[in-house]
Amino acid sequence: MRPCIPRGVLPVACAAVLGWQACAWALNVERLEPAELEQLHATLTRLEPLITAKKQDGAANLLTWEELYQPLAPEERAFVESMRGLSADALGATSHYFGETLEAQDLVPVGVQQIVKDGAQKSLDPQFLPRPVLEAYHTMMQAMERDLGKQLLVESGYRSPAYQVYLFMFYLSNHDYSIRETNRFVALPGYSEHGYPPHQAIDFINQEGINGEDHPEEFEALPEYRWLQEHAGEFGFIMSYPRGNALNTSFEPWHWHYEQEAQ
Ligand SMILES: [Zn+2]
Repeated sequence: MRPCIPRGVLPVACAAVLGWQACAWALNVERLEPAELEQLHATLTRLEPLITAKKQDGAANLLTWEELYQPLAPEERAFVESMRGLSADALGATSHYFGETLEAQDLVPVGVQQIVKDGAQKSLDPQFLPRPVLEAYHTMMQAMERDLGKQLLVESGYRSPAYQVYLFMFYLSNHDYSIRETNRFVALPGYSEHGYPPHQAIDFINQEGINGEDHPEEFEALPEYRWLQEHAGEFGFIMSYPRGNALNTSFEPWHWHYEQEAQ
């Protein structure tokens, strides 16, 4: 059996407690320790074929915990569990915890979506939304089309908590392997409006492929964005992370969530 204490790291819980033969990791949230980094890379490498296959099936966003854990060795599974168990509050964030126990029900495919970027047509990855949210989105886009002759597309809709933890681990490399910093850009599982149908979030992208991901001001400058600011509320959509929001989340002009009661 693998020694219980990863090099230089104290375990926060052990095999017997978690029900498998490996330890939970303490995880240095400022920057992953070398042993943690090694485990992260091993885990991501192990998950790669699964994620690739799920993407090919157009079902990555619906990934279940069972599917995620299936290919993992015990210590990899323990590592994912440790990531899953992180609390955003402990990272100085005030993100709302939605929980991840809720079963996603009545998710429907958004359908084929195409952008034209640099003269080339490109299909977006398949997306899913709860039925009432998809209907509200369609109604809103009909209105936008009438006003602007343009529409916004759904670059990201529902994302399961299991896929969310994978994305969190994947994007750590963009933020110098700092969990605290990554959390300002990628939500931990259970903290994402993308994984919580009652507050379902949509990340919009325009028909020319502008999503603001690297430069939020590009999205902010779009007439589609100004239209959203003026009209989205009429359709139940609210911008979640305005500039200087109290949640310590980066400005995300493309990220809007649906609240039926907001109409
Ligand atoms: Zn989002």
